[in-house]
Amino acid sequence: MLLGRTNAGIALLGHSGMTRFELAYEENPIQWWAEGNWNGTRVFSQKFPYPAMAVEDLLARVLNGGQCGRCHRTTVVGIIVDGDYCCFTLVAEDLDDDGKYRYIRTCEVEGDEVGRRGTG
Ligand SMILES: [Zn+2]
Repeated sequence: MLLGRTNAGIALLGHSGMTRFELAYEENPIQWWAEGNWNGTRVFSQKFPYPAMAVEDLLARVLNGGQCGRCHRTTVVGIIVDGDYCCFTLVAEDLDDDGKYRYIRTCEVEGDEVGRRGTG
């Protein structure tokens, strides 16, 4: 259930410098949360009915307002913002329920466009 989104989020957390990651839940009603160590502090998501939402909330807490290691612009996750931001957006490579998802950065998309223009 939303496994592809959950996995894409965990992969991006791994690339963001998170040194410990845990996904946990409690029952009645079922509520998921994610937590980890990042930049010397423990960070927690809020509680959600699906693990993907917990992972995406933790991602936003870690990456919103950070700096892209590639283009050095301010980062934001999940939404595309006009202006001088580097936005991590989720793209689906397969629309099955457990399809393959990954995050792509604004500067990676721009790089692709420049590449296509260059080769004409
Ligand atoms: Zn960037």
